[in-house]
Amino acid sequence: MPNYEAVMGLEVHAQLKTNTKMFCGCPTSFGEPPNTQVCPVCLGLPGSLPVVNAQAFEFALKAALALHCEIVGFTKFDRKNYYYPDLPKNYQISQFDLPFCKNGYLDINVDGAVKRIGITRIHMEEDAGKLVHSDHGGGSGVDLNRAGTPLLEIVSEPDLRTPAEARAYMEAVAHILEFLGICDCNMQEGSLRCDANVSVRPIGQTTLNTRREIKNMNSFRYVEQAIEIEIGEQIGLYESGGTVRQETRLFNGDTGVIRTMRTKEDAQDYRYFPEPDLPPIVITEAMINEIKNKLDELPEARKQRYINELKLSDYDAKVLTDFKPMGDFFEAVLKEGVAPKFASNWITADLQGILKEHKQTIDTCGLEPKAVAELIQLVEKDKKINRAAAKETVFPKMLETKKSALEIATVENLLIVADTGATEKIVEDVIEKFPKLVADFVGGKDAVLNAIFGKCMGEFKGKGDPAVIRPMLEKKLLALREKK
Ligand code: ZN
Ligand code: MN
Repeated sequence: MPNYEAVMGLEVHAQLKTNTKMFCGCPTSFGEPPNTQVCPVCLGLPGSLPVVNAQAFEFALKAALALHCEIVGFTKFDRKNYYYPDLPKNYQISQFDLPFCKNGYLDINVDGAVKRIGITRIHMEEDAGKLVHSDHGGGSGVDLNRAGTPLLEIVSEPDLRTPAEARAYMEAVAHILEFLGICDCNMQEGSLRCDANVSVRPIGQTTLNTRREIKNMNSFRYVEQAIEIEIGEQIGLYESGGTVRQETRLFNGDTGVIRTMRTKEDAQDYRYFPEPDLPPIVITEAMINEIKNKLDELPEARKQRYINELKLSDYDAKVLTDFKPMGDFFEAVLKEGVAPKFASNWITADLQGILKEHKQTIDTCGLEPKAVAELIQLVEKDKKINRAAAKETVFPKMLETKKSALEIATVENLLIVADTGATEKIVEDVIEKFPKLVADFVGGKDAVLNAIFGKCMGEFKGKGDPAVIRPMLEKKLLALREKK
């Protein structure tokens, strides 16, 4: 019995986060009453003319650069002709033989190994409307609010071999688009969807077997799950002496069943032809350079810089670059003069934990990087607030009141006792107050030191500097032991 391998390519459809649609000025807002975000252009009324959305075009070029694609100098739109009730024009404006970019790649990480997935092409197109199957007395309604929303279709090479790789690729695409700020990647609302072309073949065979396409998966889990099932079914067909015929299929996430939607049409069935209402676009070197200048540093480059130049751990660098606002916040804190290691520790560990507790994220918590930098410096550099007090009291109060760290620490009486005389007095009081513990230490039980130190810190009520108190206490206790 031969062993099989799966061969997969994904087509990802991403809605671009523009304010208006691809070829008209209608808003792209989600969740509005049906057919309220429409005009003659997106309704496909005769005599209306489309105009390309400049912002959508800029977003598309950003994606092309981030995915290492070659941007072509000359691109045009085409009509893809088909009939469906959610498509009032009976054609979709898309790009056929001259997409605006091609030959890119994206590196994915599966189980610690990096694999490069080729990107065949990316093209721009418009979304269709939506059929609504409820509340129509058994019939269906058509909502055209989504018709004309700008889409990017990102087509990968058949480089994916496992369901886990497909999922990792999809996640990596989402990560980049989100980072670029060009797609909100809200899969429940359908702003990121994916079709998978799947075939299987005996290991060692170099030609491709017939593929089947699974349409419109709208969660990372579904992509992985559906592909897993599809691979199993195709192997089953070959094993039982059958063949796989080309078809388009639909996955039902609730039942885990994939059913045939239609036998697959080929490109020629769509009768593509150049869109006569839109002039072709010439993309100049100057336009590309302008976008390049606007492009933020990409997550992977940023991560490597944090590791190599700022000497952060792989883990910290990953946490700081997985979520762009976090990295941006980190950079802003560095600008205030905080050492990278301190900034990273505070942002990835302490602040993250507290923000999570308060169900907030760093970009929406309302705290300025400057204010957080001040707190970090007070703890780490000036040693005016101890770490525990900063975490337990000062930072949560900053979140609540938006007052400065110094102000809160002053009001809460948490500034470290800097006066050595006063510190010494408190330490000596503690030694007097706990004779039993002290006697144990003097008698040779080193471990008791921690307990006495704890009593000291309690006595300081969050205002003690452990770096000063511990050595002072130890010195005094050892002196007592010597004397004995
Ligand atoms: Zn419109
Ligand atoms: Mn498409």
